[in-house]
Amino acid sequence: MAKRDYYEVLGVAKDANDADIKKAYRKLSKQFHPDINQEAGAEDKFKEIAEAYEVLSDANKRAAYDQYGHASTDPNFGAGGGGFGGGFGGSGFGGGFGGGGFEDIFESFFGGGGRQSNPNAPRQGEDLQYTMNLKFEEAIFGKESTIKYNREDECGTCHGNGAKPGTEPVTCSKCHGAGSINVERNTPLGRVMTRQTCDVCHGSGKEIKEKCPTCHGSGHVKEAHSVKVTVPAGVEDGQQMRLQGQGEAGINGGPHGDLYVVFRVEESNLFDRDGSEIFYDLPISFVQAALGDEIEVPTVHGKIKLKVPAGTQTGTNFRLKGKGAPKLRGTGTGDQHVKVQVITPKNLSEQQVQAMREFAKASGIEVSEQETNIFDKVKDAFKSEGKKKRK
Ligand SMILES: [Zn+2]
Ligand SMILES: [Zn+2]
Repeated sequence: MAKRDYYEVLGVAKDANDADIKKAYRKLSKQFHPDINQEAGAEDKFKEIAEAYEVLSDANKRAAYDQYGHASTDPNFGAGGGGFGGGFGGSGFGGGFGGGGFEDIFESFFGGGGRQSNPNAPRQGEDLQYTMNLKFEEAIFGKESTIKYNREDECGTCHGNGAKPGTEPVTCSKCHGAGSINVERNTPLGRVMTRQTCDVCHGSGKEIKEKCPTCHGSGHVKEAHSVKVTVPAGVEDGQQMRLQGQGEAGINGGPHGDLYVVFRVEESNLFDRDGSEIFYDLPISFVQAALGDEIEVPTVHGKIKLKVPAGTQTGTNFRLKGKGAPKLRGTGTGDQHVKVQVITPKNLSEQQVQAMREFAKASGIEVSEQETNIFDKVKDAFKSEGKKKRK
């Protein structure tokens, strides 16, 4: 007897969404439920509805059904190669999937739902992260460092198989190595077949009769591990570096995961940094600014003399070529930018005030006595204010 189209069974359109399919299924399954509907053929009809729903409610199964029709739900789907056309090639498909049931096939087709179809396939271990703190200068010049951390490693006693030395893991007696089992459940809507992870081997497909005394059967032990890290010169805060194979041990002989070293760079009291460029604020007196001077400026490469020309204004920038940080990508080194800040003197002595007045006179600037008086008055006001507060 030819099978009816699943969309037809549920009475929905080919492009029906999940909600429509669910709604149709609920309505029909109630209508034809054997407990309710005693008519001849109701049970068969009910089974047909359940089957249609099982396929159409699962995105992967639905996609396969849309492409290959009922052949996609046959447990031997693909085994003969007949219903498959040339695309996949009969031989590549042959034995491998015959007994596995359609889930395995779907996972092979659609990249799987995250579950491994073969529990004994080698898998890469988990990645790890390590935060490395660097001083400002260390990030600029790089350094060699050995870091220590704990990671899962292969157990040395059992060499990773989890069995007591002298014994071997055996194929799981419950799932026969598949890692998962079919479970039939009775639901109000009839018997439903679901696939679950095997409870004996927990998906590994292997049973360990006598566990390794060191790792208690896991095959892995957490161990202190150290690795040499070459911090690249010019690294910046928040950047990370991948050390391949320095993460957790793999499963079933798979490779180690990776270690990500994340750099945290301390701030500097003197400098700001943006990539390979370094910024420094240079405070100078108004006399140095006016007359010009040669001033010692700190850089991460040591102190250097900077010629500040006469008449330098506050906010003027000087560039010290090659005195920045190395460029992480590309070649060369950045610059240091020096920004001049002219400081106006405070708390002048009587002698300094006198000299300033002389300067003003020579410049033809009239600094009126009144203004200084006002200044003195303000100063006096502050003084008396302070006295009041103290009372
Ligand atoms: Zn062990
Ligand atoms: Zn098992």
